[in-house]
Amino acid sequence: MYDVIIIGSGPAGYAAGIYAGRSMLSTLLITGSTLGGWAALTAEIENYPGFPEGIQGPELMDRMQKQAEKFGVKIEMDEVTSVDFSSQPFKVETYSDTHEARTVIVATGVSPRRLGVPGEEELAGRGVSRCATCDGFFFTGKRVAVIGGGDSAVEEGIYLTRYATHVDIIHRRNRLRAQKVAQERAFKNEKISFIWDTIVTEIIGKDSVTGLKLRNVRTGAESVLECDGVFIFIGNTPNTELFVGKLALDEYGYIITDSNTHTSVPGVFAAGDVQELNLKQIVTAVSAGARAAMEAEKHIAELEDRAYPERQLG
Ligand code: NAP
Repeated sequence: MYDVIIIGSGPAGYAAGIYAGRSMLSTLLITGSTLGGWAALTAEIENYPGFPEGIQGPELMDRMQKQAEKFGVKIEMDEVTSVDFSSQPFKVETYSDTHEARTVIVATGVSPRRLGVPGEEELAGRGVSRCATCDGFFFTGKRVAVIGGGDSAVEEGIYLTRYATHVDIIHRRNRLRAQKVAQERAFKNEKISFIWDTIVTEIIGKDSVTGLKLRNVRTGAESVLECDGVFIFIGNTPNTELFVGKLALDEYGYIITDSNTHTSVPGVFAAGDVQELNLKQIVTAVSAGARAAMEAEKHIAELEDRAYPERQLG
């Protein structure tokens, strides 16, 4: 039996691992399907303290993994299929095993939201992408579109100009949600154009993407944009299907925690994007992961005090 099982290998999961391992708690981290989480799919990370020149997402996550392993965290590349938090020890089932632990830290993050238009699923991997770092290179010398108006759309749009001849950022409103610094950089970039007040109604292409059908939401005017690829960055939904009926979730499916990462079940903690509503950042995820590990340590000490009251001082 482990002291702590961490579910998820993004910044929150690894930070929890580093703090739990360094506190000498026996710790298992189950990575999930995306090793390193969403951050590992991010091109350039410029706002994580300690890296004034910026750092590539995959490199940052690789470093976090090594740091967790250095403190004795066992890392298992597997996916959790079910959890049982109804009694101690908690049970966490994966495709290959069933594990037990006294505490669990949920750091399962979020998944990209789907556009829900024809062509999105059919042309996935054939011009439709959600990862500029992974797929940008394939569009060298080609024209691409980016959908969304948040940080991801604008930052990844800028990144794509390394490869593409032109990047059209299509946003459903006429104001971006992204941070001002990224906005200004995009506005100055000659390879980027913005198509405002516009939604995509279809992704066109037979074997690969050849264009997008667009509709202006103010005028209703329809048009076609020719492009070779489309990157969709329209936000996220929390990865909490496993916890429905087991942990308290809010109306959008995020895990409800107090400010110390406690969920509705004592001994189960949640950290990172899966519970963060306001500031979804690597730095906030790391902070929550560290806090969750420290709260897990306290919880284990309380369980031991209850089991062995004679050990308590005074
Ligand atoms: P986001 O901030 O939720 O933005 C999603 C964008 O997609 C919004 O502009 C939204 O439009 C648009 N959108 C949503 N549903 C749509 C639909 N069905 N059709 C068309 N457009 C749609 O998502 P994100 O950019 O992925 O960022 C997620 C979180 O990570 C945010 O908290 C962000 O700040 C953070 N993040 C931070 C950094 C950084 O600090 N460097 C980098 C990446 C992400 P509206 O604006 O009209 O709502």
